[in-house]
Amino acid sequence: MTASQRGFQKRLSSVIIYAASPMFERPRGTNDWGPEDMAKRRFVESRFVQLAESFGFREVSTPAFESLELFTAKSGPAIVRELYAFKDQGGRDLALRPEFTASILRFYVSDLRSRPKPLKLYSTGNVFRYEEPQKGRYREFSQVNAEIIGGAALPSDAEVIALAIGTMRAIGLKQVKARIGNIGILRRFLPFASADQAVVLHSLDKRNFPMLDAELDRLGRPDLSKALRQLVELSGDVSVLDQAAKILGSEASAGFEYLRKIADLLDAYGVSRRDYAFDMGVVRGLDYYTGMVFEIDSPNLGAEKQVGGGGAYNLAEVFGGERIAQTGFALGLDRLVMAAEAEQATEPPRPLDAYVVPIGEGVQEKGIEVLTSLRAAGLGADIDLVGRGPSKNLDYANAIGARYAVLLGEKELNASKATVRDMASGVQREVALADLADAILRSPVSRAPEPAKPRRRAAGTRAGRSRRH
Ligand code: AMP
Repeated sequence: MTASQRGFQKRLSSVIIYAASPMFERPRGTNDWGPEDMAKRRFVESRFVQLAESFGFREVSTPAFESLELFTAKSGPAIVRELYAFKDQGGRDLALRPEFTASILRFYVSDLRSRPKPLKLYSTGNVFRYEEPQKGRYREFSQVNAEIIGGAALPSDAEVIALAIGTMRAIGLKQVKARIGNIGILRRFLPFASADQAVVLHSLDKRNFPMLDAELDRLGRPDLSKALRQLVELSGDVSVLDQAAKILGSEASAGFEYLRKIADLLDAYGVSRRDYAFDMGVVRGLDYYTGMVFEIDSPNLGAEKQVGGGGAYNLAEVFGGERIAQTGFALGLDRLVMAAEAEQATEPPRPLDAYVVPIGEGVQEKGIEVLTSLRAAGLGADIDLVGRGPSKNLDYANAIGARYAVLLGEKELNASKATVRDMASGVQREVALADLADAILRSPVSRAPEPAKPRRRAAGTRAGRSRRH
């Protein structure tokens, strides 16, 4: 084969490699996250974890799948449509968890009941819902979740709202808007059996007033329609609580007083009143909420602006436990990251501190010893695993965004030294091996340029939407 034929063959094979479609596609509504994405996700998650720990919450972990009944016990069989439910090989009905709260309350009832109250627990991880994917709405996504079990209702509710809003602030988000309501007030106002109440609340949640009226007609209480419509449209500062109290009359006054006290407690936490509104239209989708409910938006995210929600609920009793106050929330990690990206609040990933370049035969082992000492000093350090020459190695160190290249030639090693190259400035200097780790540790992190990021196709984008179901 001539040189030009070989060149042609080479070009052809690269064309074929690029044109080939992968053998497997990831399932609809799921995502792969590359290193740059994961750095952002870990950053956001770690802000929640740090803050939750500082609030005295402790981490728990529960299985990614549970018995199906755990999720249908309160929500009824209709919820199955929204789940990844399946039979295992032993014929058991199981479902991938669509949220954390049910699992944590199952765990509480079976194992944690004797612990001192209140129990303050947090979890992070992936959850699964059978939804129509779109931007910010996936079938597998991640949540950070916190629950307080066994505290008094009012201070516990305030504590979880403060943690939820505080998490968004700790991430660095400026645009935070919580909406706080009280589903307990609505439940008391609706004199219906719980299944009927659920349909009315669902129509209010969706602002589907024709459905609301049809349902109230069916239940023989069309007179409630006007007050309910007025109520769910009320949103604003504490003054809307007076307006809402006028609509519902004296019976509901305790519920509004409760929300006023929450505002006072949030003042004491230092939560700005600009960060939340009272909104009587907050009716959470799940059936287990009983009292204060809230949702949090990142207003600049558009259609999928809701980043989280929570409230007071009652699941322990449903799962065979005692009557005890429970409150908590979940924030969607994917949406928090989107919000952080939109506000440029994410921290760039920590660059690799040192890339060790052994030069010439016979220095590989010494290179590994130097590498190991840098790693032992707590630095991020890597070494040539390919056997490239020095200039290709520097190209690589540059491409991965390493701060320093540590060049080890025989001459330097004989003098127990290394040549350290600052990758951002190109300045090189000799450093004694004994001082190497300290010299790099002491040098300020001037950020090397971020390595180029390959384009990624997210679930729910146009290209990902071609197949249905
Ligand atoms: P929920 O448990 O439905 O209140 O959801 C809590 C948060 O999880 C939401 O506010 C979203 O941020 C996030 N979330 C819910 N469903 C999805 C989804 N399908 N994809 C991505 N994030 C979601």
